Amino acid sequence: MKIETLKENTTKKSRLNGFSHDDIGDDHLYTGLQTPMKADAFKLTDTEKKERIASLFEEIMDVIGLDLTDDSLKGTPNRVAKMYIDEIFSGLNPKNKPKIALFDNKYQYNQMLVEKNITFYSNCEHHFVPIIGKVHVSYISSGKVIGLSKINRIVQYFAKRPQVQERLTNQIAEELKTILKTEDVAVIIDAKHLCVSSRGIKDDTSATVTTYYGGKFNTPNKVAELQNYLKN
Ligand SMILES: [Zn+2]
Repeated sequence: MKIETLKENTTKKSRLNGFSHDDIGDDHLYTGLQTPMKADAFKLTDTEKKERIASLFEEIMDVIGLDLTDDSLKGTPNRVAKMYIDEIFSGLNPKNKPKIALFDNKYQYNQMLVEKNITFYSNCEHHFVPIIGKVHVSYISSGKVIGLSKINRIVQYFAKRPQVQERLTNQIAEELKTILKTEDVAVIIDAKHLCVSSRGIKDDTSATVTTYYGGKFNTPNKVAELQNYLKN
């Protein structure tokens, strides 16, 4: 298995801009805005997926040597399967996308609105361990507004996927731009990656910040104004 992976890495290197699949994972590079999904990603029902994941996870536990007849471990494969489909990876399924209603901006509020410190839990798509952090979102209304809790729901939807922080940032921004019909959207994510802190380089103090500044946010003044709100 290991040898085959190495061979595959060498032959595909040219297609991956000189990086191997191991490089991509360990350096957390990402390949595009869309989460890479198979064409038949939803051929199986959620129930079928859970059954399959439970049986495969049971095999992983067995291979690493755990005794699945132990009462403490017996239910784990099913619990993991349920958690993957219903919770931590539920954002892969478009049917779980939050329905967003728009309202007229009747207060004529046309300055930036900042929704800060939205806590999220995601998972790194290269190691399947948690990414934990805060998202700060800002937009300037083009005539329509959305309920504040809906910004939260959009963040959570895209976080509940195997992710890369850069893609999460851009997916939230693109969704808000589409819904709010404006380019004037900013998204800032400040997060800790457990694949960096608990394994590999084992750096417990570093955090990763990614930003998206669209439209009117693309000026030093607007960036400074937004940063000022985030400080307090
Ligand atoms: Zn990772």
